[in-house]
Amino acid sequence: MERSFHREIEALKLGQGETFHGEGILAVTKALLQSGVTYVGGYQGSPITHLLDVMVQARDYMDELGVHVEACTNESSAAAMLAASIMYPVRGAVTWKSVVGTNVASDALSNLASAGVMGGALIVVGEDYGEGASVIQERTHAFAMKSALWLMDPRPNLPTIVRMVEKSFELSEASNTPVMMELRIRACHVRGSFDTKDNVAPAISTRQLQTQAANFSYDRLSHPPATFRHEKLKYEVRLPAARRYIVDAGLNEHLPGRHDGVGIIVQGGLTNTALRALQLAGLADGEGHTDVPMLVLNVVYPLVPEQIADFCRGKRAVLVMEEGQPDFIEQEISAHLRRAKVDTPLHGKDLLPMGGEYTAEVLLKGIEAFMAEHLETVDVQPARALSTEVAQLRAQASEALGGGVPQRPPNFCVGCPERPVFAALKLVERDTGKLHISTDIGCHSFATFEPFSFGNSILGYGMSMASSAAVKNFSAQRPVAIMGDGGFWHNGLLSGVSSALLNQGDGVLVIMKNGYTSATGTQETISTPEQEAKQLAEGNSATATETTIEDTLKGMGVKWIRTVHNYRVSRVRDTLKEAIRSPFKGLKVVIAEGECQLERQRRLKPIRARRMKEGLRSVRVRYGVDEDTCTGDHSCIRLSGCPTLTVKASSDPLRREPVAHVTNGCVGCGLCGEVADAAVLCPSFHQIEIISNPSWWDRVNARLNRFFIGLLQPA
Ligand code: SF4
Ligand code: SF4
Repeated sequence: MERSFHREIEALKLGQGETFHGEGILAVTKALLQSGVTYVGGYQGSPITHLLDVMVQARDYMDELGVHVEACTNESSAAAMLAASIMYPVRGAVTWKSVVGTNVASDALSNLASAGVMGGALIVVGEDYGEGASVIQERTHAFAMKSALWLMDPRPNLPTIVRMVEKSFELSEASNTPVMMELRIRACHVRGSFDTKDNVAPAISTRQLQTQAANFSYDRLSHPPATFRHEKLKYEVRLPAARRYIVDAGLNEHLPGRHDGVGIIVQGGLTNTALRALQLAGLADGEGHTDVPMLVLNVVYPLVPEQIADFCRGKRAVLVMEEGQPDFIEQEISAHLRRAKVDTPLHGKDLLPMGGEYTAEVLLKGIEAFMAEHLETVDVQPARALSTEVAQLRAQASEALGGGVPQRPPNFCVGCPERPVFAALKLVERDTGKLHISTDIGCHSFATFEPFSFGNSILGYGMSMASSAAVKNFSAQRPVAIMGDGGFWHNGLLSGVSSALLNQGDGVLVIMKNGYTSATGTQETISTPEQEAKQLAEGNSATATETTIEDTLKGMGVKWIRTVHNYRVSRVRDTLKEAIRSPFKGLKVVIAEGECQLERQRRLKPIRARRMKEGLRSVRVRYGVDEDTCTGDHSCIRLSGCPTLTVKASSDPLRREPVAHVTNGCVGCGLCGEVADAAVLCPSFHQIEIISNPSWWDRVNARLNRFFIGLLQPA
């Protein structure tokens, strides 16, 4: 990864009496070190990527503390790392994006939760839910409930987040149960400050080695008959212990308010939004003082029945703010109140939407309805007027924009090496007709948008090959599965390739080999080109690091493998056609090779800047369109989708159609020329070399060029 986290790493080193300023997710990272973790692992993914990336880059400092950091190959291996805390008094934390990562990790999580832990175990999950989410809309809460893992949902302010991380380890140890912490996108990116403490070097660590392995204890294995005992332990011992600790440590917060005849129970992570909505309704101030008493659940599972009953008892009504479906918390509260014979009317999903993100605007509507029914002393009109005004503003904006805000779907980066493969696939379909394409998670999923619109299914990370397993058996034409090298190492190798080999499947797999797990932030994989050099520099043997996708596939017995250079569009097109039509029965793999342009540019930019500063010759390539030759049919745009290939009005007053135009953002990847050639388009594209600090030969060459072009121009 070319991005540097130097500043963030310095923030991790702050000690007692200093102040941390920054984002919520980095505060979590710092809190882990303050809690004395022995090991940290995880699999990157928004919104928690920062936690792992910073720690991986801070390896030297982690070595000083004796903390082991592992960039795991998937969430399942990250969850399995927590096994260290089953038999040893060591604290550990792992992280991933939820709910997808939790799906992958759930086998290990179930087993871990059954055995229970001795050392504190914390799982930090990025709850990617709501308007900015990039995954299916489900809740981690379900996993916590089914496996009996405790679930923290801290109020998004830095001191609370840090305290909850520290307390999570104590809760885990007090109840012998792993703890999950869900952090929404807003919580990860909330900015603030907190007073730091010294980092704690763990007692057992990479520097303080454990001299003897733990004694054998069958009771600690999640294997029958121990599992029957584990189930009893969960509800007879661990759950009561957790509830005691939650109350004793004051993990949930009670915010008092003057309208104490009513109340709100809110998930901790929603508190800021709830307070903002109350402020809009005239029931809170800008500093977080509320008029309506609130029970803030920094721990959303388990709930403490007495705490819930005490809060609700004697009130005219209580509103539960719980984002997402199903209404797990509301149902549980309802059951606790009924058992405690507290008959306070309970509202929640009857006044608020069942699904979708709870923004301040959404919550305001629910508060407004709640006020109208139960807060007769407060004038509901200002809140109602505000809701109406917002709705009207939306309608006006939509009308002004001609029926809604234009969609701005995500797209491949300028110069992305994956774009040419999809341009080639479009050309293939001209001959073959529509193909069934199994898509995957990764940058290549941008091809599901215009101008490509490829993809018949997305079933999970690294799952494209597996998801074409049935389709290919009832299709006259071979379907194509596409995955990235990130997805291949995450899961695709086992769930797709080995299964296809076992079943002698006759499919086509395209692997985008761009060198990184690009969609999650360009983390390295086992086959990242620099890995080998790095490992050798660290003194490891070359054989241990010479891992390529090609060798791995060959070793597994794949007989038909072709590696193509992505930017050779004609070659890619022909190879894809060959794979689809080949008489060879068996798995056919096309490895499309081209380095992630984002990483390439990150690497090249400083080199170019340094050369310029030193007065050295530097060449930048870009492409252009000759507007006299451009026919204006825009086929090139439909085949490429590059954001820097756009249209402009023709300078010829007799031409009404806009012509193609390449903006200055072009990185000169060459796709335009290749596509024009492969698709036999007009010859309007030309390559331009912009030379800084030219040599004497460049100058002579330029003069000669100008002279001869001048001769050929009409007078
Ligand atoms: S990050 Fe890399 S692979 Fe992903 S879209 Fe950008 S250039 Fe392509
Ligand atoms: S050469 Fe074409 S496809 Fe490549 S960056 Fe430039 S405009 Fe985009």
